[in-house]
Amino acid sequence: MIRLSVPNIGDDEVMAVERILRSGQLVHGEENERFETELSAYLGAPEVVVVSSGTAALHVALAALGIGPGDAVIVPDFTFPATANVVELLGARPVFVDVEPGTYCLSVEGVRRAIADWSGPQSLKALMPVHEFGAPADMTPLMALAAQHGLHVIEDAACALGATIQGKRAGTLGVAGCFSFHPRKALTTGEGGAVVTSDPDLAKRLRLLRNHGIERGPMGTSFAMAGFNYRMTNFQAALGRVQLRKFDGWLSARRTLKDVYLEALGDIPGFSLPADLPGHSWQTFMGVLDASLDRGRVIERLKAAGIEANLGAQSVWSQPYYRDRYGPVSESWTSVRLFRQGLALPFCETMSPEQLRLVAATLRAVAEDTLHEA
Ligand SMILES: *Cc1c(COP(=O)(O)O)cnc(C)c1O
Repeated sequence: MIRLSVPNIGDDEVMAVERILRSGQLVHGEENERFETELSAYLGAPEVVVVSSGTAALHVALAALGIGPGDAVIVPDFTFPATANVVELLGARPVFVDVEPGTYCLSVEGVRRAIADWSGPQSLKALMPVHEFGAPADMTPLMALAAQHGLHVIEDAACALGATIQGKRAGTLGVAGCFSFHPRKALTTGEGGAVVTSDPDLAKRLRLLRNHGIERGPMGTSFAMAGFNYRMTNFQAALGRVQLRKFDGWLSARRTLKDVYLEALGDIPGFSLPADLPGHSWQTFMGVLDASLDRGRVIERLKAAGIEANLGAQSVWSQPYYRDRYGPVSESWTSVRLFRQGLALPFCETMSPEQLRLVAATLRAVAEDTLHEA
């Protein structure tokens, strides 16, 4: 079976984790501090706070900015639902906005309209662009809109470690950027995540919220605020540090391999390619099937040929919880079409160009067959 993606774990990762396991220092320790310093250098962000998942990163970022009841936060409708879930969990209101067909990222026009049309009762406080699958969101106009309307920008860069936007790393443009190190992402610590910021006061609150609100002073330990336990373990950080040393090589391999896909998948009937944006980190490779092709059937056929494929991401508003709470999403939204017809194909840096060409040839045959049957 050609899998969608396989975590890239070598002997040096195993040895690094073993060393920490044998040291007995399993919770927050020196490896966490070092991983933060190294991520900070890699991203060019002054402050990095590593946490237990990408969702935890999003949750503490919003909490540290004081987002709560009475607030509304703009999120793209096409993403992993955690982006909107954290807004709900803080008692705030997610405001869904449609995405662009080729980049799968927030529509700037949609955001402009959502701001103009917003009539409360909550007040708009923040904008959360998602760099979907590593594709940089259109940050220049989004940052301008946010500045004009006094919105905090929190980047969901869960998929976008290494992506760049006009020479800066994705995740470093907003007041906070959130990363995930889940095994489905390009760099993994098992579970894990990080918040990056250049605001030292925000970083201080993030650190308190990560660790029960504990402050250590000359008089001992005190609890300065009500916090979570969102710490990353010391051995996860050790794993992340080894991964980070190899990461630029992986990123450039992904960028070479996506060209193989773009060429081999080029003119498959009923299948459109993702936009080839500069700075894309290609965490996931998702194309979109025409309505004439039944995705379930295409996935089944690929599976029968030994190729794993699946949907790329959700229309969050289409999910039962959000539909029940906020009514039905507009059927004409691009996010709904992407949710129904998006097709994520196997893609990671350990794949060979031959494997990618095999996937493309198989998809071509399946698409032609399926179109013929219809
Ligand atoms: C993976 C992902 C998350 C959640 O990250 P976890 O580490 O799994 O909690 C959030 N947002 C997006 C866009 C993601 O892709």
